[in-house]
Amino acid sequence: MSQGIHSSAAEMHYPGNLFMVVAPSGAGKSSLVNALLAQDAHIRLSVSYTTRAPRPGETDGVQYHFVSVDEFMAARDRGEFLEWAEVHGNYYATSRVWIEQQMAAGTDVLLEIDWQGAQQVHKQFANAVEIFILPPSLTALEERLKKRGQDADNVITRRLLAAGSEMAHAPEADYVIINEVFDTALQQLRGVVEATRLRVDSQRARHTQLFSELGIH
Ligand code: GDP
Ligand code: ADP
Ligand code: 5GP
Repeated sequence: MSQGIHSSAAEMHYPGNLFMVVAPSGAGKSSLVNALLAQDAHIRLSVSYTTRAPRPGETDGVQYHFVSVDEFMAARDRGEFLEWAEVHGNYYATSRVWIEQQMAAGTDVLLEIDWQGAQQVHKQFANAVEIFILPPSLTALEERLKKRGQDADNVITRRLLAAGSEMAHAPEADYVIINEVFDTALQQLRGVVEATRLRVDSQRARHTQLFSELGIH
């Protein structure tokens, strides 16, 4: 386990940025993230590990690495996860090694995780940018969960019941986007990504030589 190293990682500035998109199920998180990734080649999505069963159309290694509870616990105990959480009765986790490799190489990384995971990541990467996606209303949230049509009724009910307590964590995020008109929300998400890339620490890590030539310390 390399927890010791990561207690100081908050001070570390990789040339790549770390984004976390958090939302209650059905708010439009995956749709927004997929649209962002399609328009921006410089950001990559971390593929999480989950013990949830694949939905129709989901492929192992694409939306998630689908694993058994035993495999999940073994990887967790080997210290391979940056964070993990139980969400809606299933386990989810982010691979530590992959995201650090990407950020060290200058690639921006995006995590689609729940608020518990975001809290754990914030402790290890103080620069991580958290964006919370809200639905325009509870009715819209329910309609979207039903429209997606990929979860059983009892699963939808469970996710709707959990939405209120999840959204209570929106104030912990750096940004809140209300996903009413999809294209507007997408523009706003892109705006956050662009602005983050211009942060002084991010620019300094990416343009070390220029900063040095210009005498900036
Ligand atoms: P492409 O794959 O043909 O679009 O070639 P590019 O040179 O544009 O990018 C190659 C890969 O390197 C991309 O998929 C990015 O993930 C990564 N990459 C290249 N340049 C940057 C950059 O400036 N910032 C970040 N974050 N990633 C980059
Ligand atoms: P999440 O990943 O947060 O669970 P999804 O991206 O799967 O949510 O979106 C849930 C459903 O809502 C999908 O059917 C999606 O097409 C739809 N949706 C997403 N954003 C909007 C929007 N702004 N207006 C209407 N429907 C939307
Ligand atoms: P779904 O099953 O709808 O794909 O995701 C359910 C919930 O699990 C969402 O709130 C999503 O953000 C969360 N989730 C997905 N991957 C991860 C992960 O790697 N870590 C954590 N903590 N939560 C995740």
